[in-house]
Amino acid sequence: MGNVLNKFNDDTITAIATAMSDAGIGIIRVSGSDAVTICDKIYISSKKKHDLPDHEPNTIKFGYIVDPADDKIIDEVMISFMKAPHSYTKEDVIEINSHGGMLVMNEIMNLLLNNGCRLAEPGEFTKRAFLNGRIDLTKAEAVMDIIGAQSRFALESSRGQLQGNIYKEVKSLRESIIYQMAFIESAIDDPENYDLTGYSEKLRQIVVPMIERIEMLIKSADEGKIRKDGIKTVIIGKPNAGKSSLLNALSGNERAIVTEIAGTTRDVIEETIRLDDIILNLIDTAGIRDTEDLIEKIGVDRAKEKIAEADLCLYILDSTKDIDDEDRQIMSLCENKNTIIILNKNDLKGNIKITSDMIVSEFSFVDIDKLPVVTASLLNGEGIDFLKNAITDLFFNGEIVPKQEIYITNLRHKRLLIEAVNSLKLVLSSIDNDLSEDFYTVDLTSAYTSLGEIIGEEIGDDLAEEIFSKFCMGK
Ligand code: GDP
Repeated sequence: MGNVLNKFNDDTITAIATAMSDAGIGIIRVSGSDAVTICDKIYISSKKKHDLPDHEPNTIKFGYIVDPADDKIIDEVMISFMKAPHSYTKEDVIEINSHGGMLVMNEIMNLLLNNGCRLAEPGEFTKRAFLNGRIDLTKAEAVMDIIGAQSRFALESSRGQLQGNIYKEVKSLRESIIYQMAFIESAIDDPENYDLTGYSEKLRQIVVPMIERIEMLIKSADEGKIRKDGIKTVIIGKPNAGKSSLLNALSGNERAIVTEIAGTTRDVIEETIRLDDIILNLIDTAGIRDTEDLIEKIGVDRAKEKIAEADLCLYILDSTKDIDDEDRQIMSLCENKNTIIILNKNDLKGNIKITSDMIVSEFSFVDIDKLPVVTASLLNGEGIDFLKNAITDLFFNGEIVPKQEIYITNLRHKRLLIEAVNSLKLVLSSIDNDLSEDFYTVDLTSAYTSLGEIIGEEIGDDLAEEIFSKFCMGK
């Protein structure tokens, strides 16, 4: 793999790879050309010998970590050795399985650091795996995503990415592009043997399906993002409609205070709720209403801003109250949003003033197919299942199980795919305008480069730094 990064240090690095908390076992990783020499200084086998260089690769052995200064035994450990290039980083890697206490692990770390290791930066092991050509950038990113996965979907899609599904896709697109670039170049250099007659139409037939494929991937990113990171959701409604009760019903805790005093939920509270595989990033608002109360006002303005940036509005109405102008005003704010209307307090049977039919006729200015109405009794937690179904219909075409093979869940990938598709569209317009073939090459090259950035074949030091610094320690 030919990425353009060549600045690389060959320090032997170490880090605690397991969580920083007292646990049964902790793993300390060491990677680099001096891994064996350094570890040998602080490790003796069960025969009480410094014989780590005799350790057969890919086996795990029992022994002791000792302080070389006084031979004091620090811990009983299992130690494994993976010889380059057959390791995570493609370097010599040693993993010390010690007891998982923070103090004992820190003592072992200090011995390693005092005997020639350098503390690894976050993500440095994976960065080395990438720089040494064991994995491409999408796989490196998948490692981080697997560790951080918050939902089954996120885990599934990062697993696919680690298996190389995005890498393969991008690689095959690049291969077709470079083939065309090479052909054009050969034809320009050697017109006797390569004929460009009718070539532009052939190229069109190659580029059009590519554009379609990339556009499909780009489209998957919106759904991929909300499946992975959650749906940004605002809860709106007049005071006392039941916003706090919804939040409570969803979160099952007393995060928001449920109260009968109008307008006490003044501040914006953010909370993430998991409804099975749906993640809602909830932004509770002060409620939207005209008010003279200054603090309320701040909340109202913020609420309006939040609606603008939300993916979903949950609009709660107290179904025992008539629809009024304020409701219409709120509804108009949600006009172009995915909105679910929740008719709350359905338990107060004798007093119901608003029905689903009334909503349909009242808010006829809204595309009614996009306006599910859910009746609920939030105080008793009733209606949450209907709400879940309505969200599934709106965002996932009714199917919570992902349908596509590949979802783009990484914004960096999406941005670069957009760049690539735009360049390919320029190729089409050059064809439309009968421009000469070397015009095609310019835009084909740009598309090729953008796609290369996705898999890390065209990235600079800064970008690699930025991507890997987001990793956790020991990875
Ligand atoms: P918010 O101001 O929109 O956050 O509304 P709250 O959630 O604080 O609810 C206002 C009042 O309505 C409280 O007294 C709740 O107990 C009551 N309430 C909320 N949901 C229901 C419901 O489903 N049925 C009944 N009967 N009362 C409810």
